[in-house]
Amino acid sequence: MPGLFSLEGRKALVTGANAGIGRAIATTLAAQGAHVVCAGRRSCDETVAEIAAAGGAAEALRLDFADPMAARDVFEGAGFDILVNNAGIIRRADSVDFTEADWDDVVDINMKAVFFTTQAFGRELIARGRPGAVVSIASLLSFQGGIRVPSYTASKHGVAGLTKILANEWAKHAITVNAVAPGYIATANTQALREDPERARAILDRIPAGRWGAPEDIGGTVAFLCSPAATYLTGAVINVDGGWMAR
Ligand code: NAP
Repeated sequence: MPGLFSLEGRKALVTGANAGIGRAIATTLAAQGAHVVCAGRRSCDETVAEIAAAGGAAEALRLDFADPMAARDVFEGAGFDILVNNAGIIRRADSVDFTEADWDDVVDINMKAVFFTTQAFGRELIARGRPGAVVSIASLLSFQGGIRVPSYTASKHGVAGLTKILANEWAKHAITVNAVAPGYIATANTQALREDPERARAILDRIPAGRWGAPEDIGGTVAFLCSPAATYLTGAVINVDGGWMAR
């Protein structure tokens, strides 16, 4: 019989699984026994190969949220139990100079695509009377303002709100909807910050753990939220931030 934290027999879709946090989530879910569909606008072959080399089960899928409705037909009859909305982008400019394109691109991928992908997933599970789990990757900027990233902050506040409304609506269908808010993680998303010595030092000085996070720091919490251990946990946004928000 599968254990409390096992994902044996579950099928998961992870968006943005070719790199960074999404790749680490995909490998962690697979290590817990899930069959992982690794979705990306670019090839996820490296992630799939990494999972296969570790003895796990995975396949790749092309999914580009330049069209926020791109996942509308992915779930029907496909047997998914888990959705991880990880794909996301960030654009940096002073708010007085921020362009409409930098607003639309970020809000479309980080929030609109998250809602409509989750809607397609939920519709399918509800129609089949099947339980499931959704985990979206939020941010510290789901709670804080940040600097020079207005569309990112708006989109990640939106992800926190969508997590709560969908949790409210779908709890009766045994579908949990949660989010994980990573702290400052060393990926392409934070490269500009790490290359700015002043910002990099200011950020590091505030992290009680005394280090930036690694993508691998996020996967375990996502796996837990998808596991039988978290069946009664829904509508939460969980910080995985080395203590940043406690400061
Ligand atoms: P990343 O390495 O830049 O990964 C972002 C992922 O999203 C990549 O796989 C990227 O694909 C994918 N993506 C971007 N646009 C896409 C599109 N149009 N369609 C499909 N996939 C697309 O950065 P990351 O840090 O791992 O980011 C993952 C998530 O964590 C994001 O939602 C981000 O906002 C969130 N997050 C990150 C941090 C942090 O400190 N790093 C903190 C809080 C939250 P490509 O490789 O093709 O660009």
